[in-house]
Amino acid sequence: MAQTYNPFENAQAQFDKVADMLQVDEGAKALLRQPMQELRFTIPVKMDDGTVKVFNAFRIKHNSARGPAKGGIRFHPHETVDTVRALSMWMTWKCAVVDIPLGGAKGGIICDPRTMSQGEQERLCRGYIRQLWSQVGPTLDVPAPDVMTNGQHMMWMLDEYETITGQRYPGMITGKPVGLGGSLGRTEATGFGVVYCLRECLKNMQLPIETTTASIQGFGNVAEYAARLYTQLGGKLIAVSCWNNTDKVAYTFRKLTGCDPEELAAIKDKFGSIDKEKAIALGYEVLEGDAWLSQDVDILIPAALENQITPAVLPKISQQVKVLCEAANGPTTPDADAQIRERGIMLIPDFLCNAGGVTCSYFEQVQCNMNYFWPKDEVLQKLEAAMTKAFQDVYDLAQEKQLYMRDAAYVISINRVVNAVKTRGWV
Ligand code: GLU
Repeated sequence: MAQTYNPFENAQAQFDKVADMLQVDEGAKALLRQPMQELRFTIPVKMDDGTVKVFNAFRIKHNSARGPAKGGIRFHPHETVDTVRALSMWMTWKCAVVDIPLGGAKGGIICDPRTMSQGEQERLCRGYIRQLWSQVGPTLDVPAPDVMTNGQHMMWMLDEYETITGQRYPGMITGKPVGLGGSLGRTEATGFGVVYCLRECLKNMQLPIETTTASIQGFGNVAEYAARLYTQLGGKLIAVSCWNNTDKVAYTFRKLTGCDPEELAAIKDKFGSIDKEKAIALGYEVLEGDAWLSQDVDILIPAALENQITPAVLPKISQQVKVLCEAANGPTTPDADAQIRERGIMLIPDFLCNAGGVTCSYFEQVQCNMNYFWPKDEVLQKLEAAMTKAFQDVYDLAQEKQLYMRDAAYVISINRVVNAVKTRGWV
């Protein structure tokens, strides 16, 4: 039987390793290796056919010592409480590594929005907030989009919150549509942030980006914008793998002369599923779902879900691969991680690599507080500066102390969060 991985155990093992190395005291360690608050609840929704369906939902706050808790809400049929726990913990480290004054949280609803009407999704979002409204808010816990959620979901949630509280609180949630309290650049932010890190990484490795090739898993929001910026900077994207919603399997779309993210974006649905027939007509080869990771490329970018890089698939990774750019949260299992390190592959760890999304969410909150919105160039400039600095700090520490990049990122984040919980007098 294939081994199963528990993302929360993975997140705890990563934390324990570095906390022990830093000799974090037992009190702080006990506090930080688990979430501070967990909410689990049910949401009854009247479906279009007149029946009532009951959905299970979570909101988990890992830590708020550095500021209001922050993190997205995922819609996924296989969501589990342990995945949300792990993701909430990674949000704390993510906000700390880019040094924004926010803590970490995550939410999830076990559902499949691909099979639900707009009305059903709206009632689900409003039901989520009806249960949760007293535990979220601009100074308490600030949700955002994540896997299979978008600006429309955020607006329904905001509207429900404001209807209940009777006031306007645009900073209660981020990832809102532009013109309704959203920030320009938020859509691009996570994917662009991935490539700002990658660009710095390649500079340090003295590899000109325009001589590199890459393969990417996923074609949702993060993957699409990472692909767009990577190719704009001259990189050659060889393959894109994504879930096909019609055939219910994943495919890898390959074009050895270089995939065009813009043309692929034009033939995908809003959940990132690329139309197979249209791709074939555009000259793409259609390969098995996991073929993306066996390509002879310099850079692998997992930008889908957790636990994709396991020891079972490691032998398939080409000797040519030099950089593993973790755009998804938790894509590498701990046992595979040890082997990635041994193989000398340069790692850009997830909570650093994909921190561009939450950094822009923070800018969105700042703009909402002022009720004054910046032009897109200004947002992207600030994002680029924040991501470049965060990457360079982690890279320099890794070089100086001969640390694996993941451990170096943890050292920076854990030190910042431990300092916050101690200065507050919590431990
Ligand atoms: N869901 C995104 C993440 O995993 C963004 C979170 C946010 O903007 O709060 O980082």
